[in-house]
Amino acid sequence: MPYSRQPRATTLGIVIAVVLAWGCSYARAAVVVLANRASQPVRCEITSLAGPQEHTIARGDLICVPVSARDESRIAFEADGSAVGYHLDPNACYYFFDTSLGGLNLQKIGYSEEASTPPLDDAPATQWEKVGKKLPRVSKIPVKLLADDEERMVAKAWQDRLRARLEAASAIFERTCRIRFEVVAFDTWDSDDRITDFNRSMVEFEAEVPPAPARLVIGFTSQYSPMTGQTKVGGTRAAFYPYVLVREWSQHYTEAERLEMLVHELGHYLGAVHSPETTSVMRPVLGDRQARLRSFRIGFDPLNALAMYLVGEEYRIRGNIRRLIELSPATRLQLRSIYQEIGRAIPNDPASAQYISLLGNLPAATQHTGLRPVVPEAGAAASEPVDSGGSVLLRPLRGANK
Ligand SMILES: [Zn+2]
Repeated sequence: MPYSRQPRATTLGIVIAVVLAWGCSYARAAVVVLANRASQPVRCEITSLAGPQEHTIARGDLICVPVSARDESRIAFEADGSAVGYHLDPNACYYFFDTSLGGLNLQKIGYSEEASTPPLDDAPATQWEKVGKKLPRVSKIPVKLLADDEERMVAKAWQDRLRARLEAASAIFERTCRIRFEVVAFDTWDSDDRITDFNRSMVEFEAEVPPAPARLVIGFTSQYSPMTGQTKVGGTRAAFYPYVLVREWSQHYTEAERLEMLVHELGHYLGAVHSPETTSVMRPVLGDRQARLRSFRIGFDPLNALAMYLVGEEYRIRGNIRRLIELSPATRLQLRSIYQEIGRAIPNDPASAQYISLLGNLPAATQHTGLRPVVPEAGAAASEPVDSGGSVLLRPLRGANK
């Protein structure tokens, strides 16, 4: 009827106008990743959009701090009883380390210049940049969890167990890149008893299980238990790929190790690749018993944390991303630089090259043109292979050394 159509058309008009305006104002906040490789917890103050904010970074941990992509950010911390200050570049990684003189200093993890340049569109700041006071919102990824017919517990017990594990994993991602994995459904599938090979199990899982109503389905198979030597315990095919499969039943693994395997696969889902850093959850071979230690912290290396934050930021803004190639050219250029840097440090692992190919065609890379020479810093974490691309000088703040 005419009287009801008119208002509906008006509503539609407003919706379209809002979407267009949102599309035009597509611009992102940036992030700074700070890792603590020093022997003590580090306290620092970072000044960016939200004004000065205090942070404490536990030993071996890292934090991801949203900063302005446009305005300069600064960091201050205490070293040898005096205040030290540096400028921070947006979308960059830094680490604290013990100096040979027993003090504390900060080093930038170098990778190619194009990646340290944030995408500055000629567009107004994002809502978050305008507000500035609180953190960017957390985006959710709906997940369906499945056990196969070999699962030994009753439904309630395995669902509680896997839900708790996903929540523990999700807390790590929320802290690192403001993404939450949320259970929206449980189900089971019949796995073929004749299959003992992981890759064939994956094919069977993909064929049998539809992803709906989730974006991501995670299958926990208890199909085959004997494991000798290096065995594939989990896998997915690409970032944003809707299937992850992990081995569940094995007397060889503790719950902490199972959590680590899940975080590793979800890291791949959000764009992380294999890391040469021996304590990173993205090291190529897990099950090395590190996760059994009470002091061990399941977490990401700085470059993978940065990659996931960039992917997560675009997912927050655009939502419907199903492949890396759908990311904006600016983000894909940054990811390529990060993957190249990681790949250089772990040349025998195919993951970074595979993810670079998933980024699609991009302009030829500039080879580290913007980097200043490596600073020979005595006592710095020189053995960290991921820094092999070169560390760069930090710009001290004038007047910060009091
Ligand atoms: Zn992996």
